[in-house]
Amino acid sequence: MDSRPALYSPTGYGSHDGEAVVRTPHTVKTLRGEDVETILDLLTAADGETVAADLVEGVAGATAEYVDSLYEHDLAYDARAIPAEMRDSDCGCFLEALLPAIPPETHHTLPDRLASLSVAVVGDREPVSPVLSRLRAAGVSVTDDAEEPVDVIVLSEALERAPSWSAVTEQWLDSAATLIKTRLTATGWRLGPVLTPAAPVCLHCVYSRVDANRAGGRLYTETLTGNPPYIEAYTDTVTEVVFATLLEQVPRHLDEQILEYDHYEGTVETSRVFALPNCEVCAGV
Ligand SMILES: [Zn+2]
Repeated sequence: MDSRPALYSPTGYGSHDGEAVVRTPHTVKTLRGEDVETILDLLTAADGETVAADLVEGVAGATAEYVDSLYEHDLAYDARAIPAEMRDSDCGCFLEALLPAIPPETHHTLPDRLASLSVAVVGDREPVSPVLSRLRAAGVSVTDDAEEPVDVIVLSEALERAPSWSAVTEQWLDSAATLIKTRLTATGWRLGPVLTPAAPVCLHCVYSRVDANRAGGRLYTETLTGNPPYIEAYTDTVTEVVFATLLEQVPRHLDEQILEYDHYEGTVETSRVFALPNCEVCAGV
């Protein structure tokens, strides 16, 4: 623990009767036992710069084990996990949520890991441009060429079945990349499916089902102009999904599913993506 700068961002905590409820940006934990006050003192002192050994020095009754237990319980993380440019531009929160699944002793290697990753963005770049800025701040390479070997391909559609989809599908099938399809709609967004290299379906399967389920193969044809009121929520959601996918934490709810969010109705619907029997594009892959 010695050199780990502990960072902690509490949104609140309280204690009574030897029990403390600690609210971090991503979780709420209840702590019990004689040590609760010492742990709260440590959390208060953790500023993201002071290394753990010095924190222990400054808090009465604290030992190295206390700091290790903060990491183990996801109440603190190694501040070096967040690339400097992300911290400067205040978007480190998009990584914080993913840290609990990464061993604390490797948190400090995250900036190097991110710098080795790449994303290709195909289609309508404008709605996802804040996502691209955050990826760049994290050190991730961003390209518009899906033919380059990349880790993640983001297909940002302006219209359902934008002309680029079939070329992107071919490139995804030929690669080891994960494909994320997303689209801003007139009332919210349609996000997913997220197709890992092992996914048993492809976009041709998805679109064929859309055609079969809608009389006459009706497509979504509305075109969006300007920024709808939910654009920030949209770009935040896409950012979370892209970072999670890059760090091999593909959100299960998007695993071969499409999530349809309606801002005005306040509803979320998910529909499962089924493989098309004998799909001419992905069958036999
Ligand atoms: Zn298919």
